Amino acid sequence: MSRNRLDTQVIVVGAGPVGLMLAGELRLGGAEVVVLERRDAPTTESRASTLHARTMEILDSRGLLAAFGTPPSEPRGHFGGIPLDLTLPGPYPGQWKVPQFRTEEVLQERALSLGADIRRGHELRTVSTAVDGEHVEAEAVGPDGPLLLRGRYLVACDGEDSTVRGLTGAAFPGRDAGRELLRADVDGIEVPNRRFERLAGGLAIAARRDDGVTRVMVHEFGSTARARTGAPEFTEIADVWKRVTGEDISTGTPLWANSFGDANRQLVRYRDGNVLYAGDAAHRQMPIGGQALNLGLQDAFNLGWKLALHLRGAAPATLLDSYHRERHAVGRRVLANIEAQALLLLGGAEVEPLRAVWTELVKLEAVREHLAGMISGLDVRYAVDGPPHPLLGARLPYTVPHPAAQALRAGRGVLLDPRRPTDTVPRGGDGWADRVTAVAAPAEPGGGQHRAAGTGGPDAPEGPDAVLVRPDGHVAWAGPGGDGLPQALERWFGPSL
Ligand SMILES: Cc1cc2nc3c(=O)[nH]c(=O)nc-3n(C[C@H](O)[C@H](O)[C@H](O)COP(=O)(O)OP(=O)(O)OC[C@H]3O[C@@H](n4cnc5c(N)ncnc54)[C@H](O)[C@@H]3O)c2cc1C
Repeated sequence: MSRNRLDTQVIVVGAGPVGLMLAGELRLGGAEVVVLERRDAPTTESRASTLHARTMEILDSRGLLAAFGTPPSEPRGHFGGIPLDLTLPGPYPGQWKVPQFRTEEVLQERALSLGADIRRGHELRTVSTAVDGEHVEAEAVGPDGPLLLRGRYLVACDGEDSTVRGLTGAAFPGRDAGRELLRADVDGIEVPNRRFERLAGGLAIAARRDDGVTRVMVHEFGSTARARTGAPEFTEIADVWKRVTGEDISTGTPLWANSFGDANRQLVRYRDGNVLYAGDAAHRQMPIGGQALNLGLQDAFNLGWKLALHLRGAAPATLLDSYHRERHAVGRRVLANIEAQALLLLGGAEVEPLRAVWTELVKLEAVREHLAGMISGLDVRYAVDGPPHPLLGARLPYTVPHPAAQALRAGRGVLLDPRRPTDTVPRGGDGWADRVTAVAAPAEPGGGQHRAAGTGGPDAPEGPDAVLVRPDGHVAWAGPGGDGLPQALERWFGPSL
């Protein structure tokens, strides 16, 4: 059979939420992208349903929130089943309830409207990096037979059982699931709502929706994860539910059944030459507290602008490596908090003393804020070189309206400098004006608090510090004068033109 050929800059494997987010970001930065997706149509499966505060901010920064309307929100979350108020300063505190298929719809519409080439019904079969040192080749099988693709980069966004990871043999250390939660959406049952109820024999969760369907989740203490090739039978879930709660739900109608384990693995390298990994392809975790989807979307948001800038020939060689450095560190921390939560959640009587101590600790405001920052993604601070500043590497505190809204929507860098008229050149040269927009505004309305300690001496200019913001909203440089700004511009946006 003859093979069709296709050349592009980036081959994205997988049109799940992460691949779709990445495709949109790459197009925004001007890169050509082909997305391969083996499913003929988007999934309608009930999967993740939580968007955390930082994800809401990044969606807003690209003008995507309006498409979601006003989703239900809930300030209360949990840490290993122990109630935790997730509220932190910012426009989107708490958790926002959006079914994953809706998130995917919005991201797909955006990627398509920006010109991404999404090929559904195409399954990736082979990857070869031994082409010419500069390209990667992939073969997919689609409705018209084999398709040979050639690109500068391939990004694996193909989920927890990543085909790419298997083909490249990328090291993915960690452990498989030892314990699991069973879950089902069931119609026609009457059981009390339960939020992480710990009974003698296990953990039971039940939430009745407005349409009368109840989602049940159950874990029997001491049980181990079964080796599965598909979803569990409803009879198995009903049996475990009966043993744990004493209630019979077997007469209900199961609409969906699923199980998820506490596997915990992370790739050693998120970038291996011209193959990169994002989302569940890069890390496997239990979706506790709705962090899995959010972590993946933020991987894509970190990678998209960097890869696009690199492909424009504008970025320094180190820019792409910062993707691994930054996101691997964030992933490691999130996986650790998920593992800690799994211990608290699925452990039996032996974890009760630990839970009692935690229950006391989370009442301390500093502890609550720390955990909320971790789960919401608001506390992510990348290791960024430059003169020390309280904002360096952190996300610029997000406000609505945002002083850099237009530039961020366009995926550009921003120099917020209250002492400069709008659209004048960044201090240190005008050579970055094609990549960085200068805005004569403080980083926050009334943002005088953004002043590095010890820099407000008699010679320092008045008012808040200037701040250089990357397209993903993180601060690449901040200061009262221009010290280090040209170097930061060059480090993150390449040489001046
Ligand atoms: C059943 C289930 C329930 C979940 N429940 C929750 C939850 O309650 N809360 C939560 O936070 N998270 C949950 N998750 C996790 C969450 O859905 C994932 O973290 C999220 O989908 C990750 O997005 P992704 O784009 O990285 O991967 P995926 O969403 O898995 O997308 C990967 C895509 O790649 C495609 N693909 C795979 N191999 C190939 C190939 N060879 N060629 C072409 N395409 C390929 C797949 O078809 C898929 O569309 C759940 C996941 C599953 C599977």
